[in-house]
Amino acid sequence: MSGCIFCKIAAGEVPAQIVKKGDGIIAFADMNPQAPTHLLIIPTMHIGSLIDAKDPQLLGKMLAFARDLAKEKGIETRGYRIVVNTNPDGGQTVFHLHLHLIGGRVMNWPPG
Ligand code: 5GP
Ligand code: ZN
Repeated sequence: MSGCIFCKIAAGEVPAQIVKKGDGIIAFADMNPQAPTHLLIIPTMHIGSLIDAKDPQLLGKMLAFARDLAKEKGIETRGYRIVVNTNPDGGQTVFHLHLHLIGGRVMNWPPG
């Protein structure tokens, strides 16, 4: 979608540190990391948020992709957190569906 920063990253029009590519999914480093490992997993096609995601298979693929990436990045044993901020109360600021994969430190609960 024109004007969407994550669509531009997916298209290679805006630089990002891409860490993994899959079938219709890419992962890249968050530009403002909240932990030693902070990666974003996105569908390459534009989907505004979890609410707009009509394809449960895609959601499953994204989750499995994030799980595999966590293993590849060496954070599986200690553990990690996967977050999907959704709409304003959920803290969503970029309206292109994404999973945050966060690890490398102990996470707090409840989240802020
Ligand atoms: P949200 O708040 O929507 O769940 O998360 C959006 C995330 O995208 C934030 O953690 C923010 O740091 C990250 N982000 C926003 N714009 C860019 C960008 O242009 N490049 C990268 N790599 N990350 C971005
Ligand atoms: Zn987009």
